[in-house]
Order: sequence, then C-alpha cells, then structure tokens
Amino acid sequence: MKILILGGGFAGVEAAIKLRKYGYEVSLISERDYMFIYPVSIWIPVGKRNFEDTKLNLFDLGKKHGFNVIIEKITRIDVTKQEIHTDKNVHAFDYLFVALGMGKVHSKGLENTHSICGKPNESVIIKEQLENLVTKGKGHINVGFGGNPKDPTATSVRGGPAFELVFNISLFLKEKGLRDKVRLTFFAPMEEPGKRMGQRAYAKMDGMFAHYHVQTHFGKKIKEFTHNAVVFKDGTELASDLTLYISGGEGLDVIKESGLPLNEAGFIEINELCRVEGYRNIYAIGDGAAIIDHPWAAKQGHVAEVMADVSTYNFHHKITHQGKRKSYWEKLHIICVMDTGDGAAFVIRTRKKEIIIPLPIVGHWLKKGWGWYYKQSKMKRMFRIPGM
Ligand SMILES: Cc1cc2nc3c(=O)[nH]c(=O)nc-3n(C[C@H](O)[C@H](O)[C@H](O)COP(=O)(O)OP(=O)(O)OC[C@H]3O[C@@H](n4cnc5c(N)ncnc54)[C@H](O)[C@@H]3O)c2cc1C
Repeated sequence: MKILILGGGFAGVEAAIKLRKYGYEVSLISERDYMFIYPVSIWIPVGKRNFEDTKLNLFDLGKKHGFNVIIEKITRIDVTKQEIHTDKNVHAFDYLFVALGMGKVHSKGLENTHSICGKPNESVIIKEQLENLVTKGKGHINVGFGGNPKDPTATSVRGGPAFELVFNISLFLKEKGLRDKVRLTFFAPMEEPGKRMGQRAYAKMDGMFAHYHVQTHFGKKIKEFTHNAVVFKDGTELASDLTLYISGGEGLDVIKESGLPLNEAGFIEINELCRVEGYRNIYAIGDGAAIIDHPWAAKQGHVAEVMADVSTYNFHHKITHQGKRKSYWEKLHIICVMDTGDGAAFVIRTRKKEIIIPLPIVGHWLKKGWGWYYKQSKMKRMFRIPGM
C-alpha cells in the first residue's frame, strides 16, 4: 500500500508522525527540506529570532519517526491515474494526504509589498528592509492584511500575525529611539479588523494601537500598492517606505488544477472526517482544506494538527475495519497567543464562548517557550503534551 503525504508543514509532518505510530510506511513530498515554524517567525524581522532556529529539518524528522522524505516540487496531482507529478518524478499512490497549505489573493502591485506569511525567506528580507529604515532614521511603515470574501476562515489568522508584527516593530523602533521619526500605520480594508478573535478581544485593540503609537486606517478598499504608497479606492493613499501586507488566502494553483472538489475560494472540500468529498482514498488537511459550517473558525496551525490527527485516525480505522471515527469539528476553536514583543494576549474562541486573558511580560516568554517546546517535542526530545 503506497501512502503519500503532500506538504511538509504543520499538517503534513503531524500526519506522517501519526501514520508511523499506526505502523504504516509513508513518504512525504515537500518542495523545501525543512518545516517552517511560522508562529515564531514574527520575531525574525526585529532580530529576536534567528531564521535557522525557526526551521525543523525534514530529514531529521523523517529519521526520528521513520518516514521517507522526498524533496521535489509538485507540479500536478492526477487523481484519476492516482499519480503525483513533480519537477523530477512521477509518484503513484493508493492513499493520499494533501497538506500543501494555501496561496494568496492577488492585488495589483503586490510585488511592492512583503509578507510575513509568504515564503519563509521573506521574514529575512523584511529584517533587512527594517534595518535600512533604521539607517535612514525616518520614514513610513505600513502594516496590513486583507481578506477573501469568498471564505471568511481564510482571513482571520492572517490578522493575528499582522497585529503581532506591528506591535513588535513598534517596540523595535522604540529601542532604536525612532518611534517619533518613523510613522507606523496599520491598515485593513474591513471596518473592524480583528473582530474574528471575538468581540472582547476586538474591543481591546484600540487601546493597544494607542499604547504602541500605531496609527490606523480601516474600512477602505485597497486599489493598488506602488513602490512608495498604499493607494485606496476612494483616492486616499498612505505614503510608504516599507509596506508589509498579508493577503487573504485562497487555493494554490496546483490544487485548483487537480480536479478535486473545491469551494469558491479554491480550498478542497472535505467532510468532517477530513476525507475529500467524492474520494474514498484522499484526505485534505491544514490550511488548504475548506472549513465548512463554522464560519467563525480560522485556519491555524493547531487546526492543521487536529485535522492530521483526525484524518490518520479515520484512515487507520477504515483500513483495519473498525467502526470508530473522529470529527475535526469537535475540536475546532481559535487559540491564539497574540504576542506584542513585551507581553501577549491569550485568546480562545469557540462557537459559544470567547475568553481573553492579558498576559503582560509572561505571555511573550510563554510563546517563546512554545517555539522551543514545539521543536523538542517533534524531535522526541521531550514528552508531548496532548493537544499542544
Ligand atoms: C506569521 C504567521 C504566524 C502564525 N501564527 C500562528 C499561531 O500563533 N498559532 C497558530 O495556530 N497558527 C498560526 N499561524 C498559522 C499556521 O502557521 C498555519 O495555519 C499552518 O502553517 C498551516 O499548516 P499547513 O501544513 O496546512 O501549511 P504550511 O505550514 O504552509 O505547509 C505547507 C507545506 O507544503 C509545501 N508545499 C506547498 N506547495 C508545494 C509544492 N507545489 N510542492 C511541494 N511542496 C509544496 C510547503 O513547502 C510546506 O512544506 C501563523 C501563520 C503565519 C504565516
């Protein structure tokens, strides 16, 4: 039985680990030889974290857990012939776990921006650009995020990193003595950015922007990005020396061309068992899978891991003819430790309730500690806390 996992991010790696625990032979295909721990990459631009430390080598992971790693770029998914085409090979499969993450909604002039949610090395480019501005000693930095009206679950999590980045940059500028010389603005086309974290969390945002000396520009649709401005559809613009913009998410081209069933935004339609609609041998997990019936939910790393757990459990029980099945809906919630550089806010949101706990100072170190724990536990160097 040939089992392939496509993607070496949160979802793909967790699925490989779980399938090995059930005793299956597994191959994981990824275009890069490392997993990037995105949640802690927010500190790379401000020099508080090293790029290399934010990577987890896939070969080391494969060796530790016993799965096979193939570094190739997937160019075509042929579900009819059950083949995966890459830039180097064609791989046949009996069972497939698609965990390729998501693409981004295109806006005019996007090449004039940088994103902390893009390719991993973007975080290093942002660091260099910030350092250039420090050398100049003045300028305008605009940080923002957009949505995808076709799928609300593809927006929210990208708000979180944008907030984290702007607050961390504010502290960075303060440390350099440049807070009054560099204008820092947060922009978003929606009237109430951050509301997805819940009403109580959202209500605190104004105070946080004031505290961190961040100006705001909300509720204006973006027309385009130029090399020196963010231009809005109402004719207003923000002068910009550095634009850090996180687009809304949408399905990757390789997924859109695969013939798999997709929602309007290009994410793969799955049932609550994480099995792709209409296919008995294909599962889709992580950011690339469409979350239905829970419009308040968000694409997050921990949801990707929940989907990996649920899909592999259901796969194993199907193969071994056991009746039990799990639903990822039962474990769906937003959990976010929103870092500000000198503290954090711990936000939990479920269908019914929302909790926000301010964690000055300790919250920042908690999130840093999580980054360390994540690497150690994935490499089996320490006990894995269930659900983390
Ligand atoms: C800056 C930032 C901060 C975040 N903070 C948090 C947080 O605090 N908490 C939280 O829960 N979530 C957070 N998230 C969200 C979380 O990182 C994502 O939800 C998670 O990475 C999704 O996992 P995934 O495996 O679906 O996709 P990814 O992690 O994006 O992995 C996709 C994989 O597919 C591979 N791939 C893609 N295309 C191809 C191809 N054509 N060929 C071969 N390989 C390919 C990639 O190389 C990668 O290995 C954050 C995200 C960002 C960007």
